[in-house]
Amino acid sequence: MELFGFVYQKEASFRTTTNWVCIRNGRKGDTLLGDRCQARVVQRMDDGALKLNRHTHNHHPEQQY
Ligand SMILES: [Zn+2]
Repeated sequence: MELFGFVYQKEASFRTTTNWVCIRNGRKGDTLLGDRCQARVVQRMDDGALKLNRHTHNHHPEQQY
């Protein structure tokens, strides 16, 4: 999913919420380890509301609008 130019990948989905993490979180052991982006979004499934965590992105958006 994409949000304000940042791209997120699904981390886990639960019955009531879905957790998304930034693609630069480095979960797949890529070269970004050590400079991981901690930004995360929790999506509520009943109404689709998005809740950002306290971490902000440590990089610029993937695309500029
Ligand atoms: Zn990020």
